[in-house]
Amino acid sequence: MDACIFCQIVSGDAPANIVYADNEVMGLLALHPANPGHLLVIPTAHTVAICDFPEVVATHFFTISMRLERTLRATVPNNGCTLLMHEGAVSHPANLHVHLHIIPRQNDDRVQLDRRAPEARREELDRIGQHLRTVYRTQWKDDDPFA
Ligand SMILES: [Zn+2]
Repeated sequence: MDACIFCQIVSGDAPANIVYADNEVMGLLALHPANPGHLLVIPTAHTVAICDFPEVVATHFFTISMRLERTLRATVPNNGCTLLMHEGAVSHPANLHVHLHIIPRQNDDRVQLDRRAPEARREELDRIGQHLRTVYRTQWKDDDPFA
């Protein structure tokens, strides 16, 4: 089994609450959300740095990221989002698979980006994930791989 947790999720060998997936990109709920709705966007191919993306994949990655952020903004309480991208060991030694955090923020939320938040309850992730998938499908129904 691949040691990379994101590759395990992509292959279906590890569980995740997946909001969006196609052949190139996956959006899933963070297991340790800084705030409800905290998403991770990953390439489905194990890639260490965004500069290693083919340009067409980079364009698609950020198009889907933009759509997922728009879905979050319409779905969970927020005053905006913080986006944080980890690539390579210097940024995230425990996970070398490049990933973009999209974190819904509120003005007074006291989120600390340098600390791992507690693990979310499974029921809460399922509830938020179902809501996000429904809103995503409504907003992007002509380009929905789950349809
Ligand atoms: Zn990987």
